[in-house]
Amino acid sequence: MRKYVIEARCPHCHKILNDPDTLIKNNPALKLLVEKNGKRGYLWLSAVYGDHETIEPEELNILPGDVIKFYCPHCEKPLPIADKCYCKGDQVRIELKTGGDLLFCNRKGCYYGSIRFVNPDDLDNFLGIV
Ligand SMILES: [Zn+2]
Ligand SMILES: [Zn+2]
Repeated sequence: MRKYVIEARCPHCHKILNDPDTLIKNNPALKLLVEKNGKRGYLWLSAVYGDHETIEPEELNILPGDVIKFYCPHCEKPLPIADKCYCKGDQVRIELKTGGDLLFCNRKGCYYGSIRFVNPDDLDNFLGIV
């Protein structure tokens, strides 16, 4: 299986979320600002599509089943919610650098998510077919 590495940016300020200083599976992980019970910290998601490894802020003590809020680490605006997840959490949306969206659930332990393309050119760009 080919490995797909996600490069994503904030839908508000369009800054890249991949953090070159924090690698998961050898790829710059997606850095996000999160909030639980009014406390904030940084969380990293693996940029390898289908890999669910994360680095979480210990002080927030995020437990399986917890629903957390996600913000951009650059502009600190709340990341948009694209949809309800089947688990009743929210599907958070960030933009792929090449066009299209990455959706993921804001509930710890729910791995439901997707990549979404509206424009066929965005799919070509993502797959590297140019
Ligand atoms: Zn932003
Ligand atoms: Zn979910």
